[in-house]
Amino acid sequence: MQAPAVFTGVDVYQRSFNPQEYLKEFYTLSDSEGRPNAFLIQNLRSLFTMFSLDGLRGDTLIDVGCGPTIYQLLSACERFQEIIALDYTDQNRRELEKWLKNEAGAFDWRPVVKYVCELEGDSEKWAEKEEKLRQRVKQVLKCDVTKANPAAPVSLLPADCVVSAFCLEAACKDLAAFRSALRNIGAFVKPGGHLVMLITLQGTFYAFNKQVFSCLYLERNAVVEAVEGAGFDVKFREVQPWPPSDVRTDCKDVLSFVARKRASVTA
Ligand code: SAH
Repeated sequence: MQAPAVFTGVDVYQRSFNPQEYLKEFYTLSDSEGRPNAFLIQNLRSLFTMFSLDGLRGDTLIDVGCGPTIYQLLSACERFQEIIALDYTDQNRRELEKWLKNEAGAFDWRPVVKYVCELEGDSEKWAEKEEKLRQRVKQVLKCDVTKANPAAPVSLLPADCVVSAFCLEAACKDLAAFRSALRNIGAFVKPGGHLVMLITLQGTFYAFNKQVFSCLYLERNAVVEAVEGAGFDVKFREVQPWPPSDVRTDCKDVLSFVARKRASVTA
């Protein structure tokens, strides 16, 4: 495919990101011909595995770069009582709030919620899970991962867990910025707490709605080194191939990992 002009720059998300088109493109469980969304299913399964690990529980969780999505919180909300969701883009936070407040026109996550309930062994509890998640998300706030305090001017108390899916590779222009953003969001985690991430490997763009967004090209080892450099030890990781022959991106794999913050950070 001949790639159209790539959108880059500080405010590209605020200017160009259409949450409803993004959701339709990447977060329907199966397409109009009934083909399953392998990308989403893989990610739901990884999140289920990670949020079933021993020790991955606590009071507070912060979702960094939540976008307009909730799939990344469906297993997490069984393990953490209070959730704060952060994103840079106004329209993404607004779209998330529509679902949280059960407003007309909100994205229909039910098929995805039901799928996660099946993974968790009780397909009947989907309405209960939706209700639980709506109650557990206490705040939706603006953030910028390139800032030393991404939630400024708000000072958040360090949380038991930070989850972040497909945000840092979208927000960071080079490896130095990526390392620094990891330290910034790592500061949201209490010593002994966890960082859970989904991140694309070896990709330079993703596209939807006839727009192309740039993505930081990352190798697995560079991510692991940056995570360790931010004061964490990787406890679990898996790499899954991006479903083949997908013209919407050139990403090769998705890396999922859980890392635990060391008690004293010498980074
Ligand atoms: N977590 C969601 C959204 C990923 S899309 C998912 O898994 O699908 C990338 C997200 O990163 C967008 O919501 C965008 O608003 C956010 N983002 C881009 N630059 C950012 C920055 N500097 N700080 C925080 N979030 C940013």
